[in-house]
Amino acid sequence: MKAVCWEGTEDVRTLNVADPAILNPRDVIVRVRATAICGSDLHLYGGMIPSMQAGDILGHEFMGEVVETGAAITSLQVGDRVVVPFAIACGGCFFCKKQLFSLCDNSNPNAALAETMYGYSGSGLFGYSHIYGGYAGGQAEYVRVPFADVGAFKLTPNVTDEQAVFLADILPTGYMAAENCGIEPGDTVAVWGCGPVGLMAMKSAVLLGAERVIAIDRIPERLQLAVQFAGAEPLNYEDEGVLERLHDLTYGQGPDRCIDAVGMEAHGTTVDAWYDRIKQAVYLGTDRPHALREAIQACRKGGTVSIPGVYGGLLDKLPFGAAFAKGLKFAMGQTHVHKYLDLLMEKIETSQIDPAQIISHRGTLDDAPGLYETFRNKQDACTKIVLTP
Ligand code: NAD
Ligand code: ZN
Repeated sequence: MKAVCWEGTEDVRTLNVADPAILNPRDVIVRVRATAICGSDLHLYGGMIPSMQAGDILGHEFMGEVVETGAAITSLQVGDRVVVPFAIACGGCFFCKKQLFSLCDNSNPNAALAETMYGYSGSGLFGYSHIYGGYAGGQAEYVRVPFADVGAFKLTPNVTDEQAVFLADILPTGYMAAENCGIEPGDTVAVWGCGPVGLMAMKSAVLLGAERVIAIDRIPERLQLAVQFAGAEPLNYEDEGVLERLHDLTYGQGPDRCIDAVGMEAHGTTVDAWYDRIKQAVYLGTDRPHALREAIQACRKGGTVSIPGVYGGLLDKLPFGAAFAKGLKFAMGQTHVHKYLDLLMEKIETSQIDPAQIISHRGTLDDAPGLYETFRNKQDACTKIVLTP
């Protein structure tokens, strides 16, 4: 089959590889009908996530059709149209029972690697390095889905393939980021980053009752999309100081809830952002947490900082004193996708949200290398790419 493979930093190629096969009774094989490139894939593309190996198949946002089922699968049949959460979860462990699916204890065969770095391991993830299990991803014609009785959700006919692919990650990620804020009526929510995750977080914040949403980025067409898609107020950080402007927009109080939908590769022109870049260039730093620093600094007293943006290592110069002094609450992590799928499928069916509106580019698996570059460089007004094998 054809698959999009990571060959090295900034080197992604579409190659012919072996078809996947059923390995365990709870596996199914899915023929991919639509798959997407995620901001998280850009961290792999940029060589920011350790333990990638040449030949690893990328992709954790995909939907498709079941073509083969393992012996223990009774809830799915060949021909079922399904979406698959990016986090792999067994459904039966301590964490899955608490609906903390991305913290599943049984799906990462390389848990020991993650334990060395983090104390304990999260779940396995599709197409996301060997620390997260080394699973082949879904930017391919076929993919093996482990624990498919828990991790392959049947789609209703009213949800299109392009809408369904957002259920694998981006939509639940934005929704959980907003839910983690604990939004109260009248709240102002500021969101750093108008990429797919930021946009879904903004729309979800509105659905969860936010009165105002402020969208922060520097890319004009993404800010424009935030206005159209979520009714947000745009703040271009290249034109105005973020902290000053947020202070003014909230009558001197600060946003009630701050969402960092940027993560470890923040761009910035301030002293701290340059400091991050230099440290990273000489391999003395892992992450560039400029957006997170701003979110902590900007947040009102007693507010919440929600972090869907991915971080990988030890973050430097975080204003933890400010967080403590203001009594902030923090919430973060990989999304517990499974928990949100019934709810979000219904929101799509009832037209409360149409995630496919943010798609800017469509292509085939063969187009992936060029499209990775376009998406990384934010060229050609690229906001979200969907590939059909
Ligand atoms: P993206 O790269 O398309 O978007 C990031 C946006 O942030 C860009 O528009 C960029 O211009 C903007 N940005 C950069 N620096 C900024 C700054 N200092 N202030 C404000 N905006 C800034 O990526 P995406 O797909 O939207 O993903 C965003 C983050 O969410 C990534 O870190 C990704 O890995 C993460 N993510 C997390 C989960 C999860 O489960 N928690 C799931 C999916 C993605
Ligand atoms: Zn993703």
